[in-house]
Amino acid sequence: MDDKNELFYQQPYVKEFDAVVTGCVQGKNGWEVTLDHTAFYPEGGGQLADGGKLGDATVSDTRHKDGHIVHFCDKPLEVGSTVHGILDWTRRFDHMQAHSGEHIVSGLIHKKYGYDNVGFHMAADRVTVDFDGLLNEEQLAELEREANEAIWANTPVSVAFPSAEELAALEYRSKKELSGEVRIVTFPGVDVCACCGTHVMRTGEVGQIKFLSMSHYKGGVRIEMLCGRLAMEDAAKKNEQQRELCQMFSAKPYELVDAVKKYVTESEAKDARVAELTQRYFDGKLEAHAAFDGLVMEFEDGFKTSEMRKYCDALVTSGKARVAACFSPAEANGKSGFSYVMCSRACDMREASKALNKQLNGRGGGDPTLVQGSFFALRAEIEAALTELFK
Ligand SMILES: [Zn+2]
Repeated sequence: MDDKNELFYQQPYVKEFDAVVTGCVQGKNGWEVTLDHTAFYPEGGGQLADGGKLGDATVSDTRHKDGHIVHFCDKPLEVGSTVHGILDWTRRFDHMQAHSGEHIVSGLIHKKYGYDNVGFHMAADRVTVDFDGLLNEEQLAELEREANEAIWANTPVSVAFPSAEELAALEYRSKKELSGEVRIVTFPGVDVCACCGTHVMRTGEVGQIKFLSMSHYKGGVRIEMLCGRLAMEDAAKKNEQQRELCQMFSAKPYELVDAVKKYVTESEAKDARVAELTQRYFDGKLEAHAAFDGLVMEFEDGFKTSEMRKYCDALVTSGKARVAACFSPAEANGKSGFSYVMCSRACDMREASKALNKQLNGRGGGDPTLVQGSFFALRAEIEAALTELFK
């Protein structure tokens, strides 16, 4: 297939066409169909593949393969027959907006800072462009404004095939050394670039360019951005999310961050108050115990491991238990039981936990003075086993 048969180059706005099926073989990813000419763009130059219909077959992907453009179809098509092709135009136009938007951004960055686009990747939720130089946030904001001004200017985008002589005199961006006929795409005043993708006819069709993020990448920067319809959908989702958050925090949109900061500060103060009251509760509990040279077991709902460790240790060091054991109801993998902490200065708790884990379907361990883990057994079974072991 030569250039003349690649309709997407001659007429990038062709959405439907008729073509003759020249080949159809079954491959790993469906039926691989070739046509005498096509409007389906095969993935390349950072632009994603087209999809759509060929007759009643669905085209999921289009790729260059062995010098042909192959359409990956879910059904076989008869070689020699004429089929009607319909592009998934929403998908293609998303690609045209993103690809053209990338030209505007790369062209502006090249013009202003001399940096080259060294990586371009399109995905459904963002376009990623890498540059071989650094930018700061202020420069990025300025670029976004200028890129959108280039869109509002609504200038025509031109495609030309200059002669070797004309090409030698022309300054243009190019991703790699090209041989043969070079296709030069010009966004007037913004970008001149050798490119094989599909572009919009006028810059206004890009709709808008919105930068999402910028990060350091391989000595330069990686910019994530959205164009056109996808930028609008992204803004709609974010707006909806903001609306919900504004309701939750009873705040106006631009006051949301302050409202969340206030909420976090108040929440931290509550955490501190809860910790203080919990400490007071355990202090009172400890005081109520008389000195005791035996086993003390405490069962509490919602006992945190850190609290159990602290309380067990306090019981032992204050001489109110020889062996202290704290338990809190716990569940794991659908089994219910108790998480535990056990502490002693008189008995080897590591040995004790080994024996008890075996007996009470448990797991866990620690050092000779303190162990923690879980028993998947009933409270009565736990009480009986510990009473027996530490009698
Ligand atoms: Zn291009």
